[in-house]
Amino acid sequence: MKYDVNCIFCKIVNGDIPCAKLYEDDDVMAFLDVNPVTYGHALVISKDHYANFLSTPKDVMNKVMNVAQRIGQVQIEQLGAKGINILTNCKEAAGQEVQHFHVHVIPRYTSSDGFKLELKQLKDVNLPAIAKEIKEKL
Ligand code: AMP
Repeated sequence: MKYDVNCIFCKIVNGDIPCAKLYEDDDVMAFLDVNPVTYGHALVISKDHYANFLSTPKDVMNKVMNVAQRIGQVQIEQLGAKGINILTNCKEAAGQEVQHFHVHVIPRYTSSDGFKLELKQLKDVNLPAIAKEIKEKL
């Protein structure tokens, strides 16, 4: 078990901090976000401590995403959500506050509910040059 003594989500996994638990198996846990932006806002985490999306092994990632998918389906079937947003903040520059890999599953009821994603467009971009820069390293 990868455990970080300073990590709040590790403490939840360990049962040292309570949570509104939705699901648990050997590798994955899901619980409600303590500061929900919409009704039923859930977090799905790896039980082992990995800092974020980039450092999580693929098999663990797949297990987390499978649970996230099912929770999203239930948010629609049971809570009456009209859609869901799947979000994983990766590193502080992207707004990650808890440095333990987690996926937000945010049920959406209207376009003006508690979740807003603002996408501002970059101007004057050279798409082929950017694509080349990334593609070369894949
Ligand atoms: P972020 O790291 O920005 O993706 O967000 C971390 C999320 O964890 C926030 O939405 C917090 O409200 C949530 N959170 C922090 N502590 C707890 C906790 N003890 N139980 C449930 N959710 C938590």
